[in-house]
Amino acid sequence: MGDRLEDGYDVVVVGGGAAGLNGALMLARSRRTVAVIDAGAPRNAPAEGVHGLLARDGMAPGELLERGRAEVRHYGGHAVEGEVVGARRDGDGDGFTVGLADGRAVRARRILVAAGLIDELPDIPGLAERWGRDVVHCPYCHGWEVRDRAIGVLATGPMPMAVHQAHLFRQLSASVVLLTDGRPAPSGEQAEELAARGIRVVEGEVAAVEAADDRIAGLRLADGTMVAREAVAVAPRMRARAGFLAGLGLHPVEHPMGVGEHIPAEPDGRTEVEGVWVAGNTTDLSAQVGAAAAAGAAAGARINADLIAEDTRAALAAYRAPFPAGGEAPPSGRAPLWPA
Ligand SMILES: Cc1cc2nc3c(=O)[nH]c(=O)nc-3n(C[C@H](O)[C@H](O)[C@H](O)COP(=O)(O)OP(=O)(O)OC[C@H]3O[C@@H](n4cnc5c(N)ncnc54)[C@H](O)[C@@H]3O)c2cc1C
Repeated sequence: MGDRLEDGYDVVVVGGGAAGLNGALMLARSRRTVAVIDAGAPRNAPAEGVHGLLARDGMAPGELLERGRAEVRHYGGHAVEGEVVGARRDGDGDGFTVGLADGRAVRARRILVAAGLIDELPDIPGLAERWGRDVVHCPYCHGWEVRDRAIGVLATGPMPMAVHQAHLFRQLSASVVLLTDGRPAPSGEQAEELAARGIRVVEGEVAAVEAADDRIAGLRLADGTMVAREAVAVAPRMRARAGFLAGLGLHPVEHPMGVGEHIPAEPDGRTEVEGVWVAGNTTDLSAQVGAAAAAGAAAGARINADLIAEDTRAALAAYRAPFPAGGEAPPSGRAPLWPA
């Protein structure tokens, strides 16, 4: 059950995965008012456990995030269920209004975008159904879980990336086959390297991933040949979830590695739109959970510093100005402009 969304916060975090929750944790612990708005579809939801994460290896993705939400709430942050559909800068130039799919709206002095990405899987019958189980993408996330199995690496993007992926999975299993899916087969030194490590190359278009008894049986080629395999590795095209930022003039761009689209940012998460920050897979397409959480924490700390600078400017202006008439209370969520 999510928290009630208030009218305004210092920071609204869009997305409550590892990046967004760690950002919110830093902000809440800095006594910032913060709401994490989350649509509840983290990227690793199909996986049984989170791997390669120190001290939490194997924990179910849902449990990790539930613990994260509890930690954010412990310090007064809000974890709100909802989908952000748009954001605009307010007319007074002092922050943003963020709109939700159900018609709610909330004001924010800063926005941290941690909405993750969409994995665009190859359109091959039978493949999507097994995604995150025995159709995998990342040797560090679930390579150990498919170790020693017969693995088929399906070329989905640029061939050098597929060759690299084949070598990574060869570290985990002696039985690795690279399926070109109609692309030109590797040649020259690349072909020799594959042969030297016993990685067979299978040419031809892949028509289907076939399963029996809830396990992958193999890949069926368009010519009818069956390539028996127990697991399939793919490299989905990764697309940052960022359509709702269009109103702020922030659009995803092609990633320099040619693997998808992301929102470019400074190392601390600052984007080209002042006041809007990003963390996790929205900007770093290759970040695993640990790196996404770390980026969220770093962005949260930098946003706090940015707000402190703004609060200090306001405090200084008030300090230098004549004594305010009436001595009314400062606006909520801001540092006091004068002693009580
Ligand atoms: C099958 C699979 C298995 C994986 N296994 C591992 C593993 O074992 N170890 C590991 O370290 N990494 C693993 N990963 C990678 C891991 O999923 C990512 O590193 C991690 O999810 C990135 O965190 P994030 O916070 O950037 O994004 P996410 O975890 O995807 O969180 C983004 C959140 O934002 C929400 N959101 C999106 N759009 C909106 C919107 N408009 N409004 C509100 N909310 C929105 C989403 O619903 C989601 O909850 C795996 C990935 C996959 C695909």
